[in-house]
Amino acid sequence: MGNIHIMDEFLSNKIAAGEVVERPASVVKELVENAVDAGSTSIEVILEEAGLRSIQVIDNGSGMDEEDALISFQRHATSKIMNEHDLFRIRTLGFRGEALASIASVSKVTLATSNGESGVEVYLEGGHVQSKKPGPLRKGTDITVAQLFYNTPARLKYMKTIQTELGHTIDLMNRLALCYPMISFKLVHHDHELLKTNGRGDLRQVLAAIYGVANAKKMVHFEGETQDYKIEGYATIPEITRASKNYMSIFVNGRWVRHFTVQKSLIDAYHTYLPIGRFPIAVIHIEGDPFLTDVNVHPSKQQIRLSKEADLMKLIEESLHKSVRSVMQAPEIVKKPKKSVSSSEQINFWKGLDYQNTPMEQYGDKPRVKPGAVQRLEECPNEEQQKISRPDLNEEGFRQPETWEQIKERDVDFQSMQQSPDEEDVIEKESLELNEVVETIEPDELLNDQEPFPMLEIVGQIHGTYIVAQSEDGFYLIDQHAAQERIKYEFFKDMVGEVNSGERQLLLLPLTFHYAADEALHLIENQEALAEVGVFLEEFGQHSFIIREYPTWFPKGMEQEIIEDLIEQVLKKRKTDIKKLREAAAIMMSCKRSIKANHYLDLQQMERLLQDLKKCVNPFTCPHGRPVIVHFRTYEIEKMFKRVM
Ligand code: ADP
Ligand code: MG
Repeated sequence: MGNIHIMDEFLSNKIAAGEVVERPASVVKELVENAVDAGSTSIEVILEEAGLRSIQVIDNGSGMDEEDALISFQRHATSKIMNEHDLFRIRTLGFRGEALASIASVSKVTLATSNGESGVEVYLEGGHVQSKKPGPLRKGTDITVAQLFYNTPARLKYMKTIQTELGHTIDLMNRLALCYPMISFKLVHHDHELLKTNGRGDLRQVLAAIYGVANAKKMVHFEGETQDYKIEGYATIPEITRASKNYMSIFVNGRWVRHFTVQKSLIDAYHTYLPIGRFPIAVIHIEGDPFLTDVNVHPSKQQIRLSKEADLMKLIEESLHKSVRSVMQAPEIVKKPKKSVSSSEQINFWKGLDYQNTPMEQYGDKPRVKPGAVQRLEECPNEEQQKISRPDLNEEGFRQPETWEQIKERDVDFQSMQQSPDEEDVIEKESLELNEVVETIEPDELLNDQEPFPMLEIVGQIHGTYIVAQSEDGFYLIDQHAAQERIKYEFFKDMVGEVNSGERQLLLLPLTFHYAADEALHLIENQEALAEVGVFLEEFGQHSFIIREYPTWFPKGMEQEIIEDLIEQVLKKRKTDIKKLREAAAIMMSCKRSIKANHYLDLQQMERLLQDLKKCVNPFTCPHGRPVIVHFRTYEIEKMFKRVM
């Protein structure tokens, strides 16, 4: 007797469902792609319980007649592949002909469809047709997938929270809307409208619907073509950046793909305008002969191989760069750099920060090196141009306070992770942001804090950067910037720890924030975590938040920036670790405005700094793990001069 038998079709559908139908978002993807393939101009998705209870997709496409409606649920039923040749030229989305069969096998489906001539309504459970009756004549398809995974409880167990599942669907719908500006999309969850686009083909309108009007306004348009490719897209000006690459959407011949090199070209187009570790919000449409684009590389068809890649990359980089450069040269963009701080504000800041009863201005906060000296080092054709093209200098010609990104750039070698060609690798490393930096190099415990802080006598300062001091056992160089970062870090760490009992300051003008629907959900989930670090978000209308107050000890004049940075910090993580977030907050705040290099301190100021440093729990390293003090032992010095052997 043969042991081999043909597997029951329903069973094999269920197995296939394991691959195709991972979560509600994958069902939405298949159903919406079918609606797109059917030539719809309007697609509405209505969810209940993030789609776990029901997913309804209503389109105005071609619809099906009764015969097709029944066949469509059979495995390998497709109207899309006719022969092998088609497999390479396929322009429609799905072509495996198994989506409907798989979905139906793990849910209860109601399909009402009509080609305009006749209408039919079919009801299936677990892939078995239960009933069939005439349906409405409205041309198009209305399909409802209810009780997903009702017969595969193991799969149901894998579902994350409603919020997470909904987040996946929102992200998917956003990409679909960006992919098809000509189609009007609507996403509704329990009567909440999460996305709505008008379908008039205006990509900027879609961007506004997703990322908010303010962000959409800050985007430049770019386009270009070679013999083989045509590209078009929008990307934010460098003022608007994100900490994750997830805001860059790439479409090749109407399909959303992940493509490392295209992504890199988009980033490279900014040259040095983009701070390290920050990325634009961008969307790019690439059109080319399907022969040049091999979509069959990856089963989920999200990865793609492109021929003549180098030409395409050059085209992307040059086109976007041209657009970005044109706005960067417009004076009004850089005239008042966002992070410019006047010296009077700076003094107020130091005064306001009365930690350990030590006014910070005692450390000196004015650069004594003439700004001109700094400028002359760089090549700049004339003064007018110099002003315009130097966003790093403020109106008085002073260097801008270092941004968090610049600090990161100095302290951590992010280069290697930017250049890795391996996407997996990159995605993984992308998450090595602030938190990991804290984790890996903040050596609070590791450091030799057993060692007592040496008794130091100050000798002087060199290069406006290092304090030279001596003790019986040699001399010491103290990095004044690192020292102050450490002092401030410990101060802020204490303050963050007591945020709930601390005083709050009302903002003159409340801050409002608008986010994409999935981000807003994520923020709502993490509202408590944010409050723990002093960011008190209140929901304020659709996907919007308002902040009315902040802890009094937030660095003055930097409140908004800190609040934004902390929100970003939470947004780019799937899960928020409170302990890490607190640490990140303290580091972030300690790095805003410390004494920089080239600041001359008088003896009193230096003494003050060392006294405060001495009080630190860990005076030997800055919050990034760099040394604060370097010791040159007498013995080593004597050896150098051959006084001892
Ligand atoms: P595929 O999309 O890979 O062909 P599916 O299982 O997703 O396979 O769909 C099977 C067939 O059902 C499609 O080829 C199409 O002919 C038909 N179909 C599915 N959804 C729709 C729809 N919304 N409008 C019109 N026809 C549809
Ligand atoms: Mg399909």
